[in-house]
Amino acid sequence: MKDKEKSRGDQLREELCYAKKNGYERMDQAELEAMEAYCTGYKQFLDAGKTERECVDRTIALAEAAGFREYRRGMELKAGDKVYQANRGKAVMLAVMGRKGLEEGANIGAAHIDSPRLDLKQNPLYEADDLAFLKTHYYGGLRKYQWVTIPLELHGVVALKNGQVIRVSVGNGEGDPLFTIDDLLPHLGVEQSRKPLGEAIPAESLNILVGSRPLADDEGSDRVKLSVLELLHRKYGIVEEDFISAELSAVPAFRACDIGFDRSLIGAYGHDDRVCAYACLAALLQLGAPERTAVCMLADKEEIGSEGVTGMKSAAFDTFMEDLCAGQNVSLRACYEKSFCLSADVTAAYDPNFADVYEKRNSALVNYGLGLCKYTGSRGKSGASDASAEVVAYARKVLDEADVVWQMAELGKVDAGGGGTVAMFMAERNIDTLDAGVPVLSMHAPFETVGKLDCYMTFKGAKAIYEAK
Ligand code: MN
Ligand code: MN
Repeated sequence: MKDKEKSRGDQLREELCYAKKNGYERMDQAELEAMEAYCTGYKQFLDAGKTERECVDRTIALAEAAGFREYRRGMELKAGDKVYQANRGKAVMLAVMGRKGLEEGANIGAAHIDSPRLDLKQNPLYEADDLAFLKTHYYGGLRKYQWVTIPLELHGVVALKNGQVIRVSVGNGEGDPLFTIDDLLPHLGVEQSRKPLGEAIPAESLNILVGSRPLADDEGSDRVKLSVLELLHRKYGIVEEDFISAELSAVPAFRACDIGFDRSLIGAYGHDDRVCAYACLAALLQLGAPERTAVCMLADKEEIGSEGVTGMKSAAFDTFMEDLCAGQNVSLRACYEKSFCLSADVTAAYDPNFADVYEKRNSALVNYGLGLCKYTGSRGKSGASDASAEVVAYARKVLDEADVVWQMAELGKVDAGGGGTVAMFMAERNIDTLDAGVPVLSMHAPFETVGKLDCYMTFKGAKAIYEAK
């Protein structure tokens, strides 16, 4: 029997209309397997990196295993050479030198490795009614009610006056204790339940329970606190005053895991933005000698506005790039004006359970691939980089040629809220920049969810951008 001929309408629909497709319709068996293998590596990266410092350590370990060397100013580099440089242990930059000179610009993938969390205050430890607690100051935009009654780990460093920096990681190891923040029982929560979500758990009540057993044979009112201090002194050699020069963070004690009967999703703490950071890193590690120099920037402090010496506003990035340029007698500004940056950061996935804050036509859907955001920001695109039409067209071409599944994304309805990324700080350097990233469900929650297909396509997209001529 002969196939029915297409109607004129169907023909036109095919030729003229843009239709988004679920990415699974475009994946063959080999690609499904590559996706699964990639996501296994990603889950390991998540479990090893609960803070930006740990992500830097893990990144350096992976980079060195892939033949990268620590960059030193003045080092002579040729095409295919691979270098990295950490910024104060909290951000890291990596480069694979291209066959073309840096006057032709670099292809940059930039993501951030800090995630929302609860930082300890500088004078955190106290005892109240025979219980010991740590005071916290939340870092990044988080919904406080989500951080009570979940298991927490404690990660970070204590810097001593003698220059020694002591690493702390409690909860990630086999048999480690965990911590938690308590909440009211429903029986007594009548008054609290009437409050708006944003007010029900005040920031100053996010105090972490760390002990309850008093020091033996002592009558003081701080016997529990003293007992905790004694344990800390025995394990780390620190005293209470050392908290003053410490950076300790409470993070959710969740392992990255598959979600769903079909295992198509990953649940974890810190997908924002380690899912894009790992994609940019993994893609860079696979490069040989690309046409243009490829640079991966993993920044700190994005969640609080990219401020500070380790954030994207820091000159550390410019210094690294200028040093690479100096090796080729190229001016930094000549390099920047020809460069391209994929600002790889997560976007909000359309959530049918909260449909009214999204505009579905322009929202990123789970499993529809890498989400390109022409602009982020809030209200009238305030705080957005707003990539030019030409830049978006360039990305469409590069991604299509590499067979990357991608979609357009906008963070929710106009005036429903908004957010920013490092894009504008790259654009301010005179670098053409486009936002793109993985759509996330429950973004900024202690446990966020992403689709494996979108993780893998972000990796493929980053690789295509690095390899672009
Ligand atoms: Mn982010
Ligand atoms: Mn974020």
